Amino acid sequence: MSLELSQPVTILKGIGKETAEILSEMKIFTIGDLLEYFPYRYEDYRLRDLTEVKHEEKVTVEGKVHSEPSLAYYGRKKSKLTIRLLVGNYLIKVVFFNQPYLKNKIHMNNTITVTGKWDAHRQTITASECQIGSNTKQDVFEPVYSIRGKLTSRGMRKFIHLAIQQYSHFIEESLPASLLQKYRLLNRADAIKLMHFPKSQEEVKQARRRLVYEEFLLFQLKMQALRKFEREHSPGIVQNYDLKKLKNFIDQLPFPLTNAQNRVVNEVLTDLKSPYRMNRLLQGDVGSGKTVVAAIALYATVTAGYQGALMVPTEILAEQHAKSLNSLLKPFGVRCELLTSSVKVKRRKEILHELEEGFIQIIIGTHALIQEEVSFKKLGLCITDEQHRFGVEQRRILREKGENPDVLFMTATPIPRTLAITVFGEMDVSIIDEMPAGRKRVETYWAKPEMLERVLAFVEKELQKGHQAYIICPLIEESEKLDVQNAIDVHTSLTYYFANRFQVGLLHGRLNPEEKESVMKAFSENKIQVLVSTTVVEVGVNVPNATVMVIYDAERFGLSQLHQLRGRVGRGSEQSYCILLANPKSETGQERMRIMTETNDGFVLSEKDLELRGPGDFFGKKQSGIPEFKVADMVHDYRALETARSDAAKLIQSEAFWTSPEYVYIRKQLEQSGVLEGEKLD
Ligand code: ADP
Ligand code: MG
Repeated sequence: MSLELSQPVTILKGIGKETAEILSEMKIFTIGDLLEYFPYRYEDYRLRDLTEVKHEEKVTVEGKVHSEPSLAYYGRKKSKLTIRLLVGNYLIKVVFFNQPYLKNKIHMNNTITVTGKWDAHRQTITASECQIGSNTKQDVFEPVYSIRGKLTSRGMRKFIHLAIQQYSHFIEESLPASLLQKYRLLNRADAIKLMHFPKSQEEVKQARRRLVYEEFLLFQLKMQALRKFEREHSPGIVQNYDLKKLKNFIDQLPFPLTNAQNRVVNEVLTDLKSPYRMNRLLQGDVGSGKTVVAAIALYATVTAGYQGALMVPTEILAEQHAKSLNSLLKPFGVRCELLTSSVKVKRRKEILHELEEGFIQIIIGTHALIQEEVSFKKLGLCITDEQHRFGVEQRRILREKGENPDVLFMTATPIPRTLAITVFGEMDVSIIDEMPAGRKRVETYWAKPEMLERVLAFVEKELQKGHQAYIICPLIEESEKLDVQNAIDVHTSLTYYFANRFQVGLLHGRLNPEEKESVMKAFSENKIQVLVSTTVVEVGVNVPNATVMVIYDAERFGLSQLHQLRGRVGRGSEQSYCILLANPKSETGQERMRIMTETNDGFVLSEKDLELRGPGDFFGKKQSGIPEFKVADMVHDYRALETARSDAAKLIQSEAFWTSPEYVYIRKQLEQSGVLEGEKLD
């Protein structure tokens, strides 16, 4: 950024210490920051014909005052001023709340312009603004900024106006002429000016288009520069696995790998052998068979003389993975152990010791794995399952327990493409897009809560065939605030309902680990036929004999979460069913239920989820590393994102990008952000 633009905001007339303080809370420190503090919407003051304005819409009208203002006080210091206004040949009422001083300004037959909310039934405008005289703001879209403290929108507009007048000619172009021409983009200074003071919606659109592209391009360049840097500079381990042993292991699996699994295994093995560090995201829908890919990768590491770690978000899942990895790998002489916070102190000590000595080759566990006392002899591969459940920090700690170990992230919540290329843009991505043969599609129905009787009768039929059922509730126990089903009550009533015929169990996050374990064990051994649970069964739990899942208050869950839950059934050879009990009030709520019944494709659902809920909610947590853009919106502007991404990929590879003066500005930006030295983006 030019020197002029990095001057503090206080050099502007009118910005003193106090204002500067407020601005700094808004992260505005320099003239440049101020220029790039964009409005979040625009006020439209163009006059409109009242017959075309909808009820409750905001409108500006100009008219002749048709009655003396009448002022009424009520309560303490509250007032209401009412006038009649003739707009064209339309007589309407205008009310002003708490602006008594207007009484002396507005007179019969004056022309005034008012802006406010239109009540079509009462033919009344509740005015928020009033201007004596004709509308002077006819042809402006007035920017509206998000502001704080004593700052006013008007003040903000004034400061930005000043900044533009005095400093906009210092705004440098960031993009090369070739790209500006190619996409017919406005130059940077014009785009910034028009963002603040446009004359039409079209001008806003063009200004945005330019800035969105720039923002995405820069972001993608940073991601890809980082990736390039990591490839070139972070030496990984060359893992010379034993191909013969590996082939033997794969041959001994109870099933042949799908084509997709084979492809992904190859991608992972190539990374393991390569001299750079693997940083790979493995996406695969629920049930697509990621665990066996993990097992193969871990075994490869072991045959290369290294240790492997598998970190998962819940104890139930950890136990299950430990069990299946053990059954697969023990016959090949590999020692796998489980480490969770419920492992007893004495046993834990032994495990830690043996891990450090390298006697344990594969460790499977929860967050317990990233505690300080855990250390490895020779960690070669870290795998995280359901990676979105972990924060960036937790993943880093695990990785740093080895010297540049290879890293594989697995996720069964398919990540929408836009998020994948922003949040995980610096990773390689593998996708298992094929289900093992013979899987039946889970049939999904949406039922209103009043149909519960029939739903239970249906569940009973399945139970009579010898199958099992999950019943999912949003809450553990009754809540005063929420009128939704809770697991404890549902458990009680279903125990009563199925009395003398079937056993009903209860599982939720507040049981202690032994209790959880024993419930899960009873369910997987079919000693319990109906399992009432909260979402703790969401990830990874595998009981193939379960064929029905009923989800209470299904509208309370996100699509990806519902899909995850649904993935608990349909794991065996029998036809399975998922019943969503829901009575969503909103349009989107209803749409979500419909989509669930229509598709079983996790990728389609995740895209929909993102569209309906937005990126912030998609991962649920702030820590997910979703970048914040000033102008761009990665859901709505995804086309621009795709374009910027492929442009960035080409640029990074080109000689010109690193040498030509056209790219000086961008190169400087990359340098400043530190990605050229391999510093992670925030
Ligand atoms: P997820 O991808 O959801 O973690 P899992 O790895 O748990 O899926 O696999 C789901 C089920 O599919 C398991 O019972 C597993 O044994 C089985 N499975 C995995 N791969 C295949 C395959 N190629 N053919 C048949 N069954 C498979
Ligand atoms: Mg899994």
